[in-house]
Amino acid sequence: MDFTNNENVKLVTGVARDFAEQYVRPHVMEWDESQHFPVEVFKKAGELGLMGVLVPEEYGGSGMGYFEYINVIIEIASVCGSIGLSVAAHNSLCTGHIMNFGNEEQKKRYLPKLASAEWLGAWGLTEPNTGSDAGNMKCVAEKDGDEWVLNGTKCWITHGKSGDVAVVIARTGEPRTSRNCTAFIVERGTPGFAAGKKENKLGMRASETTEMIFDNCRIPDSQRLGEVGDGFVQAMKVLDGGRISIAALSIGIARGAFDAALQYSKEREQFGKPISTFQGIAFKLADMATQIEAARLLTEQAADLKNRGEKVTRESAIAKYYASEVAVKVSTEAVQIFGGYGYTKDFPVEKFYRDSKLCTIGEGTSEIQKLVISREILK
Ligand SMILES: Cc1cc2nc3c(=O)[nH]c(=O)nc-3n(C[C@H](O)[C@H](O)[C@H](O)COP(=O)(O)OP(=O)(O)OC[C@H]3O[C@@H](n4cnc5c(N)ncnc54)[C@H](O)[C@@H]3O)c2cc1C
Repeated sequence: MDFTNNENVKLVTGVARDFAEQYVRPHVMEWDESQHFPVEVFKKAGELGLMGVLVPEEYGGSGMGYFEYINVIIEIASVCGSIGLSVAAHNSLCTGHIMNFGNEEQKKRYLPKLASAEWLGAWGLTEPNTGSDAGNMKCVAEKDGDEWVLNGTKCWITHGKSGDVAVVIARTGEPRTSRNCTAFIVERGTPGFAAGKKENKLGMRASETTEMIFDNCRIPDSQRLGEVGDGFVQAMKVLDGGRISIAALSIGIARGAFDAALQYSKEREQFGKPISTFQGIAFKLADMATQIEAARLLTEQAADLKNRGEKVTRESAIAKYYASEVAVKVSTEAVQIFGGYGYTKDFPVEKFYRDSKLCTIGEGTSEIQKLVISREILK
């Protein structure tokens, strides 16, 4: 299987690489240290077609498939995990949810704005007391005539403050019952909808993560996505696709760390020779290369199934689980290869090391991926 032997993939990979080199690389550490979320850079990504990769052309998107999409995320994340995370969250979560479950009117209103990055998207599932156990949410939406009234708090939301539009999953039925959640589209500026605390994070510091607070926020029924009660199942399907992008994010981070370590190992001399000539270092590089390659193949397998419209729950969880653990292992070894210099902010590997950890947590922790995988194989 040669998934990369495709003109579109080559073209969009080159566009993403040039974008990352020109608009992201010069600012990586400055944004990381100040936790600056560079809204303007996503507008540029939108102009280049990187913010609506999977959105059909009729809705203003690039109309591409998952091979193109994963390569976009890999290229950007190999330069900066934060920008990779935000591009992935925008494409897969908010945009993906509306693209897959919106009605024609909703798609026409939101997808062109999201694909061009005129608007940034956010997606709210997690709450302070319900992360892995997302079905047990407290944020409620109650019907009042032709409107819904939202009350509650979502947390850890990527673009929770700067997002122009959010897909929010809220409880519309009794706690712990089936089909008790519904998804809604909420625009920024809607009375009763505000951003809360911005998180001060270990890594992914240039990707904005905030609370979203709903206080008697009224939205018309026309902002409901799909049927009442379908929200949880929709969210799980959105995550099936989203996890492929987190696997790609992980591969990008691992590749960035590996490339830096490989180069350094050839330049750094100890005991009169490059450290790459020591088997202890060369074997680390061999393990890192093998793990990245395996992660890529698993991710491409999931992308292939997704492109063919097949169920991808098991394969996307496997890809996300494996690739995210690889990102952590590879970036840890990269710091080790750099020695003391790897522990400083003068070299890029400490940032890959910090950023990588998010990949084993966001869109379902490694433990939750194992739950999903084991459920699928024990069916
Ligand atoms: C930077 C960042 C961005 C994010 N962006 C978004 C976003 O845009 N939208 C959104 O909705 N959410 C977002 N999240 C939230 C993310 O998806 C959750 O943090 C994640 O799902 C884990 O939930 P939790 O943090 O509540 O951990 P918990 O669920 O409290 O888990 C704590 C620990 O317990 C383990 N655990 C829990 N249940 C089980 C079990 N049954 N078996 C074994 N172990 C278990 C977990 O694996 C973990 O190790 C983001 C998080 C971060 C850090």
